[in-house]
Amino acid sequence: MSPPPSLVYLMYHELEEPGRPLCLNEPGYVRYIVTTANFRAQMQSIKNCGRRGLNVSEALANPETGGVVLTFDDGSETDLITAAPLMCELGFNATFYVTVGFLDRRGYLSRAQVRQLSGLGFEIGSHSMTHPYLSDLSQEQLTHEIAGSKQELEQITGLPVNHFSCPGGRWDRRVASTAQEAGYRSVATSRAAANSPATNRFALGRVAVMRGTSLARFDALSKGRGLVGIRLGDTARASVKRLLGNAVYDRVRARILKNGPKNH
Ligand SMILES: [Zn+2]
Repeated sequence: MSPPPSLVYLMYHELEEPGRPLCLNEPGYVRYIVTTANFRAQMQSIKNCGRRGLNVSEALANPETGGVVLTFDDGSETDLITAAPLMCELGFNATFYVTVGFLDRRGYLSRAQVRQLSGLGFEIGSHSMTHPYLSDLSQEQLTHEIAGSKQELEQITGLPVNHFSCPGGRWDRRVASTAQEAGYRSVATSRAAANSPATNRFALGRVAVMRGTSLARFDALSKGRGLVGIRLGDTARASVKRLLGNAVYDRVRARILKNGPKNH
């Protein structure tokens, strides 16, 4: 029996344009930033394999189509000025998860740019109000972050906002149930796994494309290969996070990255 069809959801952040300052310069941020040249090569390689970049709604509606799901977190301005033109050129779509509290800050999308991105036919999702670790929040704060951001983004785009992604990948059952109650149709995590129709839509896996991801590695990941190895590393990190708590973990990680990042 063949396994159910599964799709890989890729996770991008800001892209690095030559000569353009990044939103943040911390090593923990920069390692998630892919250069425009690498991004272009990655998109081209999807195209060359006869596959298409999809948004989350397309993928959930047609899991058998093949293709690769493209998602972007945070709502950086490069979503519109770098990613969107290339994807229009290639006939791809994508979901842009926007953090409402970052709108109109330097390097991030403005409200008008979110409308523009949505007007081009791209999908706007929510990445919370203020980008906190959701698993640290009270229920009241969680509802504000998840339901409040949905309302704001719907006012900006004039369209339903159906998909949510978790800041820092922090997910728990409360996040899933709060999102479901708020009317979302999916929640994306940072767990490195492909998604099949059997996957819980409120805990979708995603694979981070990193600054150091080679094109060969990208090709493998986008086809769902090599994900187990990433998950093993993630599991080890998750146990350390649980032991230390998010705040201490972040301080320790920042110190390690400063002294030469090998692995986070
Ligand atoms: Zn984020």
